[in-house]
Amino acid sequence: MRSPGAQQDVSVSQGVRMMFYMMKPNETSFQTLEEVPDYIKKATPFFICLMLLELIVSWIRKGKPPGRLDDALTSLSAGVLSRLPSLLFRSIELTSYIYIWESYRIFSLPWDSPWTWYLTFLAVDFGYYWFHRMAREVNIMWAAHQTHHSSEDYNLSTALRQSVVQIYTSWIFYCPLALFIPPSVYAAHLQFNLLYQFWIHTEVINNLGPLELILNTPSHHRVHHGRNRYCIDKNYAGTLIIWDRIFGTFEAENEKVLYGLTHPINTFEPFKVQFHHLLYIWTIFWATPGFFNKFSVIFKGPGWGPGKPRLGLNEEIPEVTGKEVAFSSPASRLLKIYSVVQFALMLAFYEDTFANKAALSQVTLLLRICFIILTLTSIGFLVDQRPQAALMETFRCLVFLMLCEFGHLKPFIPSLSLAFEIFFSICVAFWGVRSMKQLASG
Ligand SMILES: [Zn+2]
Ligand SMILES: [Zn+2]
Repeated sequence: MRSPGAQQDVSVSQGVRMMFYMMKPNETSFQTLEEVPDYIKKATPFFICLMLLELIVSWIRKGKPPGRLDDALTSLSAGVLSRLPSLLFRSIELTSYIYIWESYRIFSLPWDSPWTWYLTFLAVDFGYYWFHRMAREVNIMWAAHQTHHSSEDYNLSTALRQSVVQIYTSWIFYCPLALFIPPSVYAAHLQFNLLYQFWIHTEVINNLGPLELILNTPSHHRVHHGRNRYCIDKNYAGTLIIWDRIFGTFEAENEKVLYGLTHPINTFEPFKVQFHHLLYIWTIFWATPGFFNKFSVIFKGPGWGPGKPRLGLNEEIPEVTGKEVAFSSPASRLLKIYSVVQFALMLAFYEDTFANKAALSQVTLLLRICFIILTLTSIGFLVDQRPQAALMETFRCLVFLMLCEFGHLKPFIPSLSLAFEIFFSICVAFWGVRSMKQLASG
């Protein structure tokens, strides 16, 4: 077991194993919360390697990539957005847990016992099952979780399509654990449970034989992401599928799964991807008569309506015909490549911001967060071909130049400073002329 002040590095072997929850108690048990590594932060290179591997396997098997560029870009944008609050605050999942542990714990399980480790593994996975089930069965929680389901593709990038606000609904489900499980043990398992769910978002793995009985697998999770009627409200598992088998929500994959929301949102704009269902609830809330009905709009299932059962009617789910066409961007290939380049540059600044968080002033940190949000929004507008896209991209490139000028952003390779300045100046000129032409033509 790790003692105070122990090394918190994650080796390559641990990095690979943590993606599959193949960690041993003696290498991942820590006395204090501060010693628990930020496994998720250290997972970025493993995310990238596995996505490249999926791309190669898909090319070899099917002769095409596992998904579409615009969809993957939107998923990665949601992943970036969902991590931004952690630059400013400790997560509510940990804050609430520590508060309960310090104020109300009944007894303390030993942090260095393998039995505590295994019990926490089960308890966190059990908590996740109920959180995930409620995230589907309670409309206001679905408003957050639907972001993850909004992709019409199913590949590893879909795993990263996460909600910014979901964490404010999930923390409650882990609170009972704080009555007896030390925060350091909980913090490690919370991360492993999340990381495990990365590799199951793929179509390149078909069936894993007897493992399908116990583990949540790509096949089981494909069903969870389906909008076919047989897939609705099924397979909520995190790591172990046994919870679905026990509580009656298990469904095996049979007919071909069509992915995404039952009513697709047809946009790649990140804020719509995050919040469109909240707006929808707001509208339905005011349109529905009666106090109890309004209450039900918020706390019953997303398919509920007056006179219907709590989770709505399965026969109202649009039937899958096999002729559905996934929404795709009207943008040209060149514009998509431009968007990918701008996204990659932003990602480098995003990684740099996380790596040097402690050394940055609050003003710089806030300005960088605003720039990242502006970049994601602008890319969403470009990919969606919105009329305001050219004007927003002009403004964004100008903001980049100003942030560099005042020292809030620094190119990650100092010798490239001039190249960055020239590139972004050309972008300002290009998009500026485009927006002028648009304005002139009314
Ligand atoms: Zn889900
Ligand atoms: Zn998923």
